[in-house]
Amino acid sequence: MNRAVMVNRKWVFTFQEGHAKMVDLLGGKGANLAEMTRAGLAVPPGFTVTTEACLTYFKDGNRLNDVMLHQILMGLAQLEREKGQVFGERDKPLLVSVRSGSVTSMPGMMDTILNVGLNDETVVGISELTGNPRFAFDCYRRLIQMFGHVVMGVESHLFEQQLDRMKTREGVLRDEEISAAGLQQLVQEYKLLVLLKTGKGFPQNVVDQLRLAIEAVFSSWNNARAQVYRRMHRIPDDQGTAVNIQSMVFGNMGETCGTGVVFTRNPSTGENILFGEFLLNAQGEDVVAGIRTPMPIAMLEQVMPDAYDELQRTVKQLEFHYQDIQDIEFTIEHHKLYLLQTRSGKRNAQAALKIAVDLVHEGIITKRQAIERIDPMHLEQLLHRAIREDAQQAVAKGLPASPGAAVGQVALDAETAALWGKEGKRVILVRPETTPEDIEGVLASEGVATLRGGMTSHAAVVARGMGKPCVCGCETIEFLASERGIRIGSQTIHEGDWMTIDGHRGLICLGELELKEPEMTEALMELLAWADEVRTLRILANADHPYDAQVARQYGAEGIGLCRTEHMFFDKERLPIVQRMILAEHTDARRDALAQLLPMQQSDFEGMLEAMNGLPVTIRLLDPPLHEFLPKRKELQERLQHLRGLHGTDQEIAGIEATMKKVEALEEINPMLGQRGCRLGIVYPEVYDMQIEAIFKAAASCLKRGIAVLPEIMIPLVGHVTELKFFRERIEQIASEMLSKKQLQQCAYRVGTMIEVPRAALTAHQIAVHADFFSFGTNDLTQMTLGYSRDDAEGKFMSQYLDRRILAHNPFQVLDEEGVGQLIQIANTTGKSVKPELKAGVCGEHGGDPQSIRFCHAIGLEYVSCSPYRIPLARIAAAQAVIAEERQGVEEAMAESLLAERMHA
Ligand code: ADP
Ligand code: MG
Ligand code: MG
Repeated sequence: MNRAVMVNRKWVFTFQEGHAKMVDLLGGKGANLAEMTRAGLAVPPGFTVTTEACLTYFKDGNRLNDVMLHQILMGLAQLEREKGQVFGERDKPLLVSVRSGSVTSMPGMMDTILNVGLNDETVVGISELTGNPRFAFDCYRRLIQMFGHVVMGVESHLFEQQLDRMKTREGVLRDEEISAAGLQQLVQEYKLLVLLKTGKGFPQNVVDQLRLAIEAVFSSWNNARAQVYRRMHRIPDDQGTAVNIQSMVFGNMGETCGTGVVFTRNPSTGENILFGEFLLNAQGEDVVAGIRTPMPIAMLEQVMPDAYDELQRTVKQLEFHYQDIQDIEFTIEHHKLYLLQTRSGKRNAQAALKIAVDLVHEGIITKRQAIERIDPMHLEQLLHRAIREDAQQAVAKGLPASPGAAVGQVALDAETAALWGKEGKRVILVRPETTPEDIEGVLASEGVATLRGGMTSHAAVVARGMGKPCVCGCETIEFLASERGIRIGSQTIHEGDWMTIDGHRGLICLGELELKEPEMTEALMELLAWADEVRTLRILANADHPYDAQVARQYGAEGIGLCRTEHMFFDKERLPIVQRMILAEHTDARRDALAQLLPMQQSDFEGMLEAMNGLPVTIRLLDPPLHEFLPKRKELQERLQHLRGLHGTDQEIAGIEATMKKVEALEEINPMLGQRGCRLGIVYPEVYDMQIEAIFKAAASCLKRGIAVLPEIMIPLVGHVTELKFFRERIEQIASEMLSKKQLQQCAYRVGTMIEVPRAALTAHQIAVHADFFSFGTNDLTQMTLGYSRDDAEGKFMSQYLDRRILAHNPFQVLDEEGVGQLIQIANTTGKSVKPELKAGVCGEHGGDPQSIRFCHAIGLEYVSCSPYRIPLARIAAAQAVIAEERQGVEEAMAESLLAERMHA
């Protein structure tokens, strides 16, 4: 090996050497352990092996090189000196934990091993030293179990089985009630189990233990659940994990000891009081693994007031230091508090909001910082649904671990949940407890319920992170594994039965209950107002009915960016008229049907215009191919057969046959690229005429009632300027016919076009001449630019493309900036070069995606339009886009002035 590298590279940092900014190198856990050590808090001493060491370990074919090993042993030697103990020495043995710690927090996804350094000799030493053999053997059996699982690959449940058997043998219920002799016996059984399962004994050499544990933690970076988690949270695969070697402190030495997890504020509600759980006489894993249901942190004040006081003081100090809510692991050893981990607390949307707003009020952060703290995607979770009060009939109650209500069919294991989820079923995953391995099942479910485990169990943490409703610790439910069901009281619920859960209140209800829509909280309103001060993009709504328009207004929409008129035609009363219109053989018959539709459309439009009260309402003329309004061919055939069998009247039969003919005539090879959009309007101008008339009649009627209006008529699927020109003329003519002179003056209307055919984007300079606005229909534009039909893509190859990373994102969810985005940019620039006052925005689904919104802002669009429920999210994302841009500007300016300084020097 190259000498220089050996000398220079530093793989190991003691906790005194590191600090919070060194996250990339030391991982989050290591960096924060160092930061807390620096701040003088009681952190058991230790050292961190870097993420660089991990990556080198992978590069070398999963091998720790000699230099690393040497530095690790040096670190260990220093730790021994500090603690006055010796690793592996019987009389004063040093015990350590070997803890994973990635750069981006991945709770529970990787492995940690406690009590490393115990063997048949040191266990006796500890036992004599403490006079507490129960404690010594409890630590030892935990080590063998963790090491056996993580390093040697023996399944955990085999150890659990033996543990349960021991409890039965001793007639006790809880782990901590097992006698010293029982634990000693268990150690023998565990060792035998490891030997039987792996052919190798549990290593007695403590340096071997340490080395193997470090290697296993490095390797756990690539275990399946960590990979799934990374993909879901878009964490890069090449970060690697650090390993922390830390001297042990013990929460399992008796009733004056304990361990717990505490949040500085409530991570579900944001309320500013300590929130967390602890267990007496236990080691850390017991709390997070959800094996025992712990006690709420407030109880600590009663059982150990001194420790509680110190805890409260310390954690608030940490919160102030980090300017954010902290999630803290602690252990109490004979009344003395030790801190083992701190990180910014994962919180749900409601809490995130309240905390951000409170921190501004407390003077700890600025408004802009608060805006930046909000993950816009999480706002979807904030606007969560609840069970309607009158529909509630809970059969069981658990802990309210992650808010929101969910309805689904019960699945009893993660695989079933994942499978059903893929089939499009709504699933509630019900488990005795969830382990991190269940993550794929959680992901596929609407919500999760567990029978054991607390608010900080992995199930709860993971569900909160994903914004899924979760109820934990429903202890009255019994799991019937063999019958694939659960029992609640006298009722048995089978897999596949419907269940409704409320993670806000911790309720389990049977059946498919009705849910109610969410309301805006005060904190949200306040933050949104701050966002509105910052953002420059206008946020409009996609809304097809007056009701949606009202909802959109409440959420702060500044107008309707897309009203799809076809959705007004599917209503029960109207569909037959629409069908009559389509089936009409002659223009006259068609006009008749249209005349019937006109007042209905008019009243829809009036409702929309009224709800928006002078804000723009963009109405898109009929877009889908006509066959979508007719019954399917197969359905008609069945009806025909049925009628013939029943001797239906000739007239009935002839009617269906006529419909069938029309359906056949309208059938297209590829409807997406067929007779739809403005092509339809050119073939059947009377349909568009009716819609245009209805719009202006609605406007006239509103004006008469003193309501301001701003209708915008939008032509879909334009590819040639001539198409738009054709309609613009018709619209202007109809407007002058429908509106009186005075109204015509009051009613500023606009005519614009969707840009969703690539040719339209490329010829935008021609089209802009006849358009007042461009609305980028990014759904169709994506389909046509990539040549993917969305349904086929998402039904067939998209998941493969994403799994194999051929595509980084689904382009129907996150705008393809390089391709589709480029077309948008071209159209926006060339369109405005001929008409500077042209308004341009996005009305596809991307209008509600934060990343796409940032792009829209960056290229200078005027607005985005999205579904009403996404409007709050879009308002925040648009503000964040401005803040990010400003920051970039500042950084560039700083870099420039630095450069200038250097040039002068
Ligand atoms: P995870 O990332 O899964 O939380 P950790 O490395 O934080 O894993 O450790 C798991 C549990 O073990 C935590 O409760 C932690 O507080 C506890 N623990 C880790 N190291 C020590 C130690 N040196 N002394 C006592 N408890 C420890
Ligand atoms: Mg931890
Ligand atoms: Mg379209």
